[in-house]
Amino acid sequence: MTPFLKARLSSILAIGVLVLAGASVVRAATPLPDPAKAGFADRLYRLDCGDSLANDESVWTPGKNIGKRVRFSSTCWLIRHGGEWLLWDTGVPESALNDPRGWSTLPKLIVYHLDKSITAQLAAIGLTTGDVAYVAVSHTHGDHIGNVALFPDATVLIQRAEYEWIRSPDGANANVNQLKALARQLMGSPKRLRLLDGDTDVFGDGSVMLVSTPGHTPGSQSLLVHLRKTGFVILSGDVAHSADNLEHDIVPSLNTDKAASVASMDHVKAMIETYRARIFINHDKAQEDALKLLPAFYD
Ligand SMILES: [Zn+2]
Repeated sequence: MTPFLKARLSSILAIGVLVLAGASVVRAATPLPDPAKAGFADRLYRLDCGDSLANDESVWTPGKNIGKRVRFSSTCWLIRHGGEWLLWDTGVPESALNDPRGWSTLPKLIVYHLDKSITAQLAAIGLTTGDVAYVAVSHTHGDHIGNVALFPDATVLIQRAEYEWIRSPDGANANVNQLKALARQLMGSPKRLRLLDGDTDVFGDGSVMLVSTPGHTPGSQSLLVHLRKTGFVILSGDVAHSADNLEHDIVPSLNTDKAASVASMDHVKAMIETYRARIFINHDKAQEDALKLLPAFYD
């Protein structure tokens, strides 16, 4: 069989699998790694990428905590793989640094503060923004893509469904429309943009997998990283806003698809089992504050 025929056949087989799966969530662009065979990333650093105060927790816990104030963390993660660096999410824009008025994605609901810049945190371990080869974004809410423009030479990794969604016509939810408009502005037009169609093995060795977890937004993704001592870690993106929401399948009212959100949370919980993984939840302030912070790292 010629290589061309082989490639054709395997793509036909792959399509067959997707059709058989019959799910509304298309996955398996790349199979998730065998836990016993996955390669390793070398280091995982947590960066402080902001802190926010929202005036109504019930937006994230519908029917509960009405009018209650809640604090969220904003977290970025830096991964070293061999000689390459990948940044996962970029946090609140550096233009908000030390601004007492803060910055907002939805001014009536939430205000963010930033007291450490990504640039300074990278410098603390001897890096500049130019050393980051890949910027992977979980989704296009402003508190995750606020600093994509600081990395003009990096390859930006984003799900195609997400990139197309922020350019799609507005819907009925004014908050969602406002978030999309801000996303278009903050994303700009990256020079090196890689649009992903589902699960993607970034380095080809199973050490860093981008995993499609739609629902919060149409093209949301999470990240599975494998480390020698720590084992597997899942970086949540916004598949859930808190450990409690994940445990009880609670879907924030801002999410674009409730059923897909629950399916993605269930998928992540299955991955926690399969990989005996820890999950680091971006906005769960109590959990994140207890984790190592750059210059400390997980390896
Ligand atoms: Zn979000």
